[in-house]
Parts: sequence; C-alpha cells; structure tokens
Amino acid sequence: MGKTHNFYAGPSILPQYTIDETAKAIHNFAGTGLSVMEVSHRSKEVVAVMDQAIALFKELLNIPDGYHVLFLGGGASTQFLMAPYNLLQKKAAYLLTGGWASKAVKEAKLFGEVVEVASSKDSNFNYIPKGWKVPSDADYFHITTNNTLYGTEIREDFDMDVPLVADMSSDIFSRPMDVSKYALIYGGAQKNLAPAGITFIIVKEDALGKVDRAIPTMLDYRTHMKSESMFNTPPVLPLFAALKTLEWLKNKGGVAAMEKVNIEKAGLLYAEIDRNKLFKPTVNAVEDRSIMNICWIMNDEYADLEKEFLDFASARGMIGIKGHRSVGGYRASTYNALPKESVIELVKVMQEFESMK
Ligand SMILES: *Cc1c(COP(=O)(O)O)cnc(C)c1O
Repeated sequence: MGKTHNFYAGPSILPQYTIDETAKAIHNFAGTGLSVMEVSHRSKEVVAVMDQAIALFKELLNIPDGYHVLFLGGGASTQFLMAPYNLLQKKAAYLLTGGWASKAVKEAKLFGEVVEVASSKDSNFNYIPKGWKVPSDADYFHITTNNTLYGTEIREDFDMDVPLVADMSSDIFSRPMDVSKYALIYGGAQKNLAPAGITFIIVKEDALGKVDRAIPTMLDYRTHMKSESMFNTPPVLPLFAALKTLEWLKNKGGVAAMEKVNIEKAGLLYAEIDRNKLFKPTVNAVEDRSIMNICWIMNDEYADLEKEFLDFASARGMIGIKGHRSVGGYRASTYNALPKESVIELVKVMQEFESMK
C-alpha cells in the first residue's frame, strides 16, 4: 500500500509525535511500569499531566488571568446545553452559520429566549452573515468560529458589548487569538488536539454566577474550576494525548507558526479548486473560506464524474475527502497536524484527473 493522506474531518489526523508518545505511555506511563490506562487519576503522575496540559494550553493561547481551562467529557454537544445552563438568564443571541450552530440554538431554547441575529441557511450555510446586530440586553452572543461541515470560518475575534461565547471545536490552535474578547470558548478535542473523549473549555470566572436557576453539580462550570477538572474521573488517555499535541505545538513554534502553514495549505488547495476546470468551491466569498475544512464540488458540466474522482483519489491514498452529506462533493480537512506535503499530493491528483478528461 502506498502512502496515505488523512483528510478526515473528525476524528482526524494527529501529530505522529502524539501517537508515538501515547503508544509508549500505553505500555509504560511516566516510568511507573503501568499503562496510562490503568493508573489512578489521583496519582501524582496523572495530576502532573493535567497541570501541564492546563499550563501549556494557557501559554499557547496567551490566556489572561481570570480564565480557567477545563478538560471534561461529553463533547462539544454537551457544551451546547452547559453554556446556556450557566449563562442564559433571559435571552441569548446566536449566529446561525451551520449544523452545529443549529444544534446549539436548539439546546439554548430550553433555557430562555433565543434571538437568531442572522443566518446563512438560505444558501446552505455557504457564507458568514455580515451586518447583524446583537441585542444589548442579551446575556451572551454565541458563534461557531469554524463551520466544519460547510467550510466557512470566522477568523477574527469580535469586539462585543455582551459576553461572547464560541464553539471552536474545529479551529482551536489554528491561529493566534485574543481570548480576552470571550467569556467562554469550548470544543471537542477530536479535530485539532486529541482523540475523541475530551472536551476543552476556557471560561472567564466573572462571567459565571449570574443565573438564578439551580445547576446540577456536573453541569456547573464552577464545580470543575474548583476541582481542576478532577471532580470526577477525567478521560485520562485523551488528556495525555492532548498534552503531547500541546508539546508538539509548542515545539513547532506555537499558533502563529501553525497559522502560517495553515494559510499556505489552504491557499494551495483553494487555488487549485479555482483553477481546475472540473471543480468549483462551495464557499465563494474568499474572506469566509475556512483554512481548516475546504469544500468543493464538480462543475455542473462534470457532475457525473463525482464518484469517479472520489475513487480515483482514494486509490491514490487520499483518505476522507468525501464531502458531508449536507453539502456533497468533497471536503479536505487541513488541520494543524496535516503536512503540507499531503495537500501538494492532493493537488497533483486533481491535476492528473483533469488531464484525463
Ligand atoms: C465536531 C463538532 C461538534 C461536535 O462535537 P462532539 O464532540 O462530537 O460533540 C460541535 N461543533 C463543531 C464546530 C464541530 O466541528
């Protein structure tokens, strides 16, 4: 079998360093002679992993004082309800930019009034709405920075008058960001950080404690802040892997270095999609194009070649480029750990296929 290139949207490619170090720790963790899967989360070795992961997370994103980093179970989908549980007193505002945002809205509606400030649903979420206004009495404004299914992305940190909440499941650590603009950031780790099973949360301490309702212990951010994410058993193995990815990120020069390469990778692929006679992008507004999930379809006159190209690319080691069923066509996820070489190879495959037609 030839070399494979992993473009899966999630779970998705991880650094080889993360995989190798985790494999070692599965056999012998921190010199204990035991597997990382069979050691108490209260042991000094696992507590050290948690402490280091929190510290590196804060360092890499330059997180200011007054914020806590949590690692919990439940995935980003549990955050869709935990965020309103903790923050929504009367009214929240949401920007509807895709399927994940829609799911977040559905949960928030269980807790209070939800204002959809704008939506791109009218054209299958292929752009980021502009010119919206957030009610000044909203308890918070929720955005999905990267729309994994549709390939659109918000790559700026909005200045808001109300607390800003963001689902960053699929673009955390892809660029430098200003955490001080946010009250809450969350995401499932399986797109850019770790294997599935762990959820990261960055929460501003003084954003909490403002709702009247009783919050179940496990769903209250303050529970996990007090216990440094050790209130109950954290997903230890994914946590260990996350630490290794954070070390890798630091060694590679951090998020600024990641952003540079991510922009190069995305630039190469979008340029080919725009140039190649067979294909067209699904996101036309260049400023809305994601640098993490790149979506494209066949040009109308070549529509019947859709399956043929997929098979052609798969046979050449391109894994996971089938588009999400709500968009069709193709999607290449170009997360941090994806080498530029994989994008170069994909572009070659697209050119080779074009030359046959
Ligand atoms: C994958 C994804 C989710 C869902 O994450 P789970 O951890 O599976 O709950 C939510 N939001 C975005 C933007 C995603 O990419």
